[in-house]
This record gives sequence, C-alpha cells and structure tokens, in this order.
Amino acid sequence: MTKIEIEKHQTLKGSKDTYIFVIGLEVHAQVLSKSKLFSEASTKFGSSPNTNVSLVDAAMPGMLPVVNSFCIEQAVKTGLGLNAKINLRSRFDRKNYFYPDLPQGYQISQLYEPIVGEGIVSIETESNKAKEIGIERIHLEQDAGKSIHDMDPVCSFVDLNRTGIALMEIVSKPDLNSPTEAVEYLKKLRLIMKYLKTCDGNMQEGSLRADVNVSVCPIDTYLEFKSSGDLKLLGTRCEIKNMNSLKFIQQAINYEARRQIKLIENGDKVNQETRLYDPTKNETRALRSKEDAHDYRYFPCPDLQPILLEESWVTTIRENLPELPDRKKERYLEEFKVTSYDASVIISEPTTSSFFESIAIDRDGKIAANLLINELFGRLNKKNLPFEENPITVNQMRELIELVQQNQISSKGTKDIFEIIWETGGSPLNLVDKLGLRQVQDSDAISEAVESVFSENPEQVKKIEINPKLVGWFVGQVMKKTEGKADPKLINQLIKEKLGKT
Ligand code: ADP
Ligand code: MG
Repeated sequence: MTKIEIEKHQTLKGSKDTYIFVIGLEVHAQVLSKSKLFSEASTKFGSSPNTNVSLVDAAMPGMLPVVNSFCIEQAVKTGLGLNAKINLRSRFDRKNYFYPDLPQGYQISQLYEPIVGEGIVSIETESNKAKEIGIERIHLEQDAGKSIHDMDPVCSFVDLNRTGIALMEIVSKPDLNSPTEAVEYLKKLRLIMKYLKTCDGNMQEGSLRADVNVSVCPIDTYLEFKSSGDLKLLGTRCEIKNMNSLKFIQQAINYEARRQIKLIENGDKVNQETRLYDPTKNETRALRSKEDAHDYRYFPCPDLQPILLEESWVTTIRENLPELPDRKKERYLEEFKVTSYDASVIISEPTTSSFFESIAIDRDGKIAANLLINELFGRLNKKNLPFEENPITVNQMRELIELVQQNQISSKGTKDIFEIIWETGGSPLNLVDKLGLRQVQDSDAISEAVESVFSENPEQVKKIEINPKLVGWFVGQVMKKTEGKADPKLINQLIKEKLGKT
C-alpha cells in the first residue's frame, strides 16, 4: 500500500471539518471519422441544418444500422493510447429514453460489454508530481442532434446533423482530487487523442465535452476509502452535465464542492442529481434527479451483432501507434537536452512538435527550442495567429539556429534577422552578410581592439585592477571598436586573459 499524501490544494475547509474533492469525469469525445457510427452520412461540422442526415439517422421505418469499422478502430486506438485493456468481444445496447433530437427513441450505446476496459492516464499535479488517474472504461455510442429553442417565440427546431456521430465515452475512476487535476486530466486526454488522430479535441465545436461528477469527503473517511477501496465510503456525487470549457469546469467544481459542504454541515443530505452550471451566475442548478441504469430499460440492440476482434489485429494497431506525449517529452529531455518546461510547450500540439523535430535534427536542441518558443511562438501569440499561419519555414529556422550555434550572430542580430524573415522572407545565411550582422570571430582582430582599448585608457586599466566589475565597460569599448560585430563571449575571454597578464 503506498502512502497517501493529501496536498493542500486538494482540500477545502468547512466550519466543522476539512474535506477533500472527489471528482470523476465522463468525457464524450467525438470520433474523428468522415462518416457516422451506423450510417454513411457526413460528420462535417458547420454544414447547413439537416443536410448530413441519412435515412438511418432519421430513423425511417425499417432502416438498419451498419457498424462503421473505422470508428471501432479509432476506439481501439484510443484505448491503447490510454494503456487500457481492449475487450475482444463487445456489444451494443439500446438505452431507451425520449430524445427529441434522436428520432429512434433510444440511443445505441454499450453498457454491459464496452469495447475498452480499465486503463491509466498520467497527469502532473499542482506540486509537479506525476499522478496516475484510472480509466474505468470507454464505450462507443451515438451522439444526439441539437434542439434549437431560441430562434422562434413558439416553435423549437431540430438539427439532426450531429445525430448518430460516433462518440467515445471515456469514464474515469473518481481519482481526481482538485479542480486543477480535473482540467489537467482533460487536457491530457485531449492531447493523447490529438496525437492518435482519434478526436480533434475541439471543445468549442463540442467535439470534446465532459460530465463532471463531484462529491466531497472528510479527510479521515477518505483515507479509510483509500485503504479499503470501498466506494460506499465516499460522499454522494452530483453530476454537472455537458461542460465544454476548462475554465467553467474549474469554477463549477469549486462552487459545487462548497455547496455540498454547506449542506453536509447543516445536517442536510446531498441528493444524487444531475445539475447544470450557469457561468453568468457562477452556480450549479438542479436539472433532474439522477436516473439509474434500470430506468433506461437497457437491452442488447437486436439489430447489431456483437463485435469480435482478433488479437492480431489489435496487436498491429498497438505496434503502429504514434509516439505519445509522455514518451515524447522524455525523449526531448534526453535527446535535445531541453528543459521540462520547453518540452511541455513544444509537445502541446502535434504540429508544433513535428516542426520542432524537423528544425532541431542535427542542431543544438536547446537553441532550437529557445528560438521556437521565444521568437516564433512569441510572435504568433503577439499577432494572435495559429501555428498553421506561421510564415517561417523549416529551412529558415535551421539556418538561424546554425548561425546562433556557431556564435556567428549576436542575440540582437538574431532578433533582427527573425523580424526580417517574418516580414519579408529570405535566407538567414544570406541576410547575415548582406546586413553586416556576422560577428567577428577572428581572435587576432579582437585582440588588437582589446590592446588598443587598454593602451588608450590607462586610468581605467588601473581601476579595473581594483574593481573587476568594470569589465563591462571594457567589453563595451571593444564592441564599439569592432562596430558591434565581435562575439561578446570572445571579448570577455580575451580581456580576462589580458588582465591575467598585466
Ligand atoms: P452514470 O452513467 O450513472 O453517470 P458512470 O459509471 O458512467 O455512471 O459514471 C460515473 C462517474 O462518476 C465516473 O466517472 C466515476 O468516477 C464518478 N464517481 C463515482 N462515484 C463518485 C463519487 N463519490 N464522487 C465523485 N465522482 C464519482
Ligand atoms: Mg453519466
């Protein structure tokens, strides 16, 4: 049994007791696929209402669902990316419910035999510790369409474009213990799926959204739960539905946990219910009391056969997985000698990490990372541009890195060249000479300049012998003499040598 350490940010003080946040997420991730889970209709976002609707999606009488095998493959890939068990046999069930935007009157989902079982995702906590979050399961299901209530004073409209798009529901164990941990977990899931290309992770377009389950538990009881694993020791949870903003998820958890503590300390009960978060008021409100599985009258979907996978097929997918963020980060630290911060920034998008790998190969990785983060990302941020609109090519970056690496250019010169290639293009190797920015590396020439500064300033030489801090003044003078082109490192070195001699 590992020792449980409870960190300060995981706790909340009530007036009678100190509590810990207990959070579990059900993440709905739209499968990246051209067509829907059981029909050939397009999944394209932003099409005119009701243009991506097949007869199956519209639930015309007699229509039968046909499984899209690519969506199965995507779910398996995701499971493997989350270090999870792949179930070689899984099955679809009908979840019966009145869905105004799912004309079948039931959702095809997986309750009893999901395609993916238990897995693990590693996150970093507020105190920079690695923490493993358990995955309970991933099941495949259909998304519902959208009801639109604000276009007309009396009528509601329905757009079935989203109806039937494949969703992966990724259910975590209640292992998250602070609002930040919940957000870090969601970010990590999103990043892994982006690298896997199984979900685009676009929360604004609703491709990734989460139901956030929150309860609070007095610390002593929580420790008891940790040693026994008895879920009944935990407090009653409320489920905050359909969140698609990281900021609001954090706010909602904070509000909800405090609301529950107040209830508990007043001697009231927390009711298990579904709630909605209202960002304008920063509060959660009860939507409905929570249904149990039996309320949905689940039963195996008679239209679909169980899904049977071959071990060798799963193995092939496993062997062909791309390099995922955790492994990539480790490799960057080792191979490119960048800092942990640099690595995290660079891997935060698959596009930026692949750009970094192209510019850093056979170059100094740390210099490449600095130029990428400080100059290129800095500039993109300032102009509010996505990485895709970056005008700088791999070759331009590689030339610039080479110049910096060989001390051919000062840091000011680097910025100047970067500015020019950003604005008008061009090759840094050509520009450095054209603009006279190449640093003098010739130590004879610099030595000569050092000699003359020393002989022209006997008073200063006396002073520097007492006060070595004056070296800066000498560097400045030598710089002037060499018209700012000498390598400051070399100047420093030569001055020190000279002082050693005199
Ligand atoms: P349902 O579909 O009824 O919401 P699921 O099993 O799909 O049930 O999901 C339950 C979610 O609630 C999981 O993410 C789980 O980790 C989380 N959860 C379970 N118990 C608690 C609890 N006491 N506090 C917070 N979260 C919890
Ligand atoms: Mg749920």
